[in-house]
Amino acid sequence: MGNLYGVIGCPIKHSMSPDIHNDAFKEKHLNGYYHAFHVEPERLKESVQALKILGVKGFNVTIPHKISIIPYLDELDETAKIAGAVNTVINVEGRLIGHNTDGNGYVRSLTKILQKPIQEQKILIIGAGGAARGIYFTLAHQGCSEIDLCNRTVSKAEKLINECPFGHTSKALSLEQAEQQLENYDVIIHTTAVGMHPNVEQKPLSVKHAKRTAVVSDIVYNPIKTSLLQEAEEQGLTIHNGVGMFVHQAALAFTLWTGIEPSIERMTAIVYDKLGGTSC
Ligand code: NAP
Repeated sequence: MGNLYGVIGCPIKHSMSPDIHNDAFKEKHLNGYYHAFHVEPERLKESVQALKILGVKGFNVTIPHKISIIPYLDELDETAKIAGAVNTVINVEGRLIGHNTDGNGYVRSLTKILQKPIQEQKILIIGAGGAARGIYFTLAHQGCSEIDLCNRTVSKAEKLINECPFGHTSKALSLEQAEQQLENYDVIIHTTAVGMHPNVEQKPLSVKHAKRTAVVSDIVYNPIKTSLLQEAEEQGLTIHNGVGMFVHQAALAFTLWTGIEPSIERMTAIVYDKLGGTSC
């Protein structure tokens, strides 16, 4: 009998996770099956209990359950404690252990395209929501000490900076201040949903003041090339889209469940195929 895995979220029907995980089970000759479960927020507790009782071996957690699931789990590992959120659960002999592979997945994907170690880069994070928190804390935990945050609501960026448990010298900026000071940064990371389908014309700020050698990274992957990345590319800057984060967080989850590393290339190809684009 095979092992069952899955993802819980609401909405969930457009999730690409079943495509990449089921292909990875096939590629690695593992007897596993991954299913997308639609879970309404008010049914979260009983859904998690059901997954546990039915012996589901592991599952991903996506919007809107990444924080609200925490009380229903038996334990959190360090990554979930750092992020204050869970995106991956492992069922270890009936105990549900929460992990978070988003931050490490993002950093793995980003560092592949950087010319210098991430710890030597001056970084600007745009946004102060859940994704920003995971990325910011992971970067700070990995020894990046020069990270500033800008956000529409500056007080939320200040709050995040105050909550970061790792050494840093971060400043909180408004979007307007950051836009004027972009020449200070080597890496600019956009973490809000601005520019996501269907609002594809929107961008959080203009990168016209960025330095020529800057890398502009957007964690949005639908569209693959957001308005922000289009402007950065037109300026001759290096761009990095959200597909890498999506694929790497999934690959890390797959390895946690099975002990086996899936093919990043195959996962990436499936995602580009589904999104109908080419890599950038
Ligand atoms: P979230 O917690 O809701 O993020 C809220 C952030 O977005 C806040 O900083 C908020 O600013 C800002 N924001 C919202 N609307 C804005 C607007 N109109 N103008 C300026 N700022 C605005 O969401 P999240 O969970 O962090 O996710 C953010 C994005 O990351 C989503 O698009 C999600 O799909 C993407 N994501 C991608 C991956 C991946 O694998 N590539 C993984 C996770 C998430 P205020 O504080 O001022 O409200």
